[in-house]
Formats: sequence, structure tokens, C-alpha cells
Amino acid sequence: MSEFVTQPIHSFDGGESIAPLSAINQYLYCPRRAALIHVEGVFTDNEHTVIGSQLHEQADVPGYETTRGVTLLRALPVWSERLRLSGKCDIVERRPDGSLTPVEYKKGRRRKFDNDDAQLCAQALCLEEMFGRNIPRGFIFHAAGRRRREVTFTKDLRSLAEQAAAAVHRLIEEERVPRAVRKPQCSQCSLFDDCLPEIACAPPALARAGREAFDTAD
Ligand code: SF4
Repeated sequence: MSEFVTQPIHSFDGGESIAPLSAINQYLYCPRRAALIHVEGVFTDNEHTVIGSQLHEQADVPGYETTRGVTLLRALPVWSERLRLSGKCDIVERRPDGSLTPVEYKKGRRRKFDNDDAQLCAQALCLEEMFGRNIPRGFIFHAAGRRRREVTFTKDLRSLAEQAAAAVHRLIEEERVPRAVRKPQCSQCSLFDDCLPEIACAPPALARAGREAFDTAD
């Protein structure tokens, strides 16, 4: 079922909009998906998003605990004025030497796209700006395989996260929803029925008829 969501898009003192960290992930999965959520305000759950939300609810209880000298900070709010992003880290590990390591929970196994890694990297960029420390790596905990995967924050990954943040802001500021492009991600996308990629990718006359029938905009 579709619903309209209130995204945590607000502003710092300068009055410019900021976007949630999850928008980085959504944009790299599909720019149209990010725009449908953050420009049109549409969100629809499917089995993948429901399981993901349940997993995050467990990690979303703020607090901390210390084990063998490592403090685990749960649901830590983070933000970046430079990138105009805000959100939460599922876990940040703080070691006695002051080093910080973000850990993100994901329901599935590693995907072949870079979107999860870029979202984690964006968390690290926020932490670096907030605490003035270099953060060279983080981890993604894949619940399906119950394993932790190390992600190195390379120059290329940092650049990907920064470019995605800039692109998300452009979509929001221009209130633009890109055309659908049918791709492998569509089969698992919870917005498939809202997006109608089969119709949007059809020959022009058929696409126009489809949009009129379903009263959708491209
Ligand atoms: S159905 Fe495909 S084109 Fe449409 S938003 Fe999802 S991934 Fe993007």
C-alpha cells in the first residue's frame, strides 16, 4: 500500500534543505526511486523494506554499552553541514584510542550495487565532520548471512557518496522526477507499482495512453 511519508528534510541555519542519509542509498539504487520518495513523497513497503525496517527497529533504540574497552553507541544521530545530510548510525564503535567505526545493519546478503557501501561512507563523512577524526573503514552486518563485511572508505567511494548527495539535492531543489529506466533493480523495488516502469519505458504513444489510464506523471 502506498503512503505519503514525512521525510526528515529540514534546514540548518542557512535555510537550505538537507536530505536523509538513506537518500544516498536510494539514489544509487535508482535516481527515480529517490525522487519518488523525496520529491513526490511516495513510499510503498514490500517484503524487503518491511524486513529491513524491523531489523532497524531493533538497532534504533538509542543507548550505549561497553565491552572489552569498546563502547558501542547505538542509533547515534549524525549530520554534515557540508553535504547537507542527516540521519542515524545503527552502531558506532568507539575504541580507547578514540577511533570511531560505523556499523550498518542490512537484512540481505551483499548486493552487487554500491549503494549500501556509499550510505555507510556518507555516515563516516558525517562523523569525520562532527568529531574531526579520520575514519578509514566501517562494517556492514548482513543479517541473512550473519556476517560482518569490512568496507574501506576509499577516495572513489567517498567521491561516489558526495556526488550522490549533490545529485539528491539537485532533484529535491528542482522538484524533478527522472523518467523510469527498466533495469534489474526494478524487480525488487517496492515502488514498482507506483513507478510503472513497463509503461514508462514503452513506445511514446503506448506510454502516453498508460499514463492517462493510471493518471501518473513521468
Ligand atoms: S521500479 Fe525501477 S525505475 Fe521505477 S523506481 Fe523502482 S528501480 Fe527505479
